[in-house]
Amino acid sequence: MTSSRSRTVVLKGLWTFPAGLLKPDRKKEKAKRNRKKKQKDIEWHNQICERARIEGIGLYQCSLCHFVFPRNMVAGDHIVTKGARPDLRHDVHNGRCVCKQCHTLRHSS
Ligand SMILES: [Zn+2]
Repeated sequence: MTSSRSRTVVLKGLWTFPAGLLKPDRKKEKAKRNRKKKQKDIEWHNQICERARIEGIGLYQCSLCHFVFPRNMVAGDHIVTKGARPDLRHDVHNGRCVCKQCHTLRHSS
């Protein structure tokens, strides 16, 4: 009788223990995935902007207004939007370097 009682305790312990552990694990996994996605985004932006860099002066040319800007004023712009083609989000052929102003104008219209 005593042995069956102790088994229930163990089973109870197994029930509650993983359930409590799974939640933070899933959260961690999601955060890890997001970090990876963000890192890929940053890499994509860097790759796109690197192509627009003017050697010698180290400035970046906007592909829309053709003015030159420092790196913190330009970003990668998706030619086909992420909403239309989420699979092209990190495709370097689907990007061009644009200045902040042109980027804002493009997405506000
Ligand atoms: Zn521009």
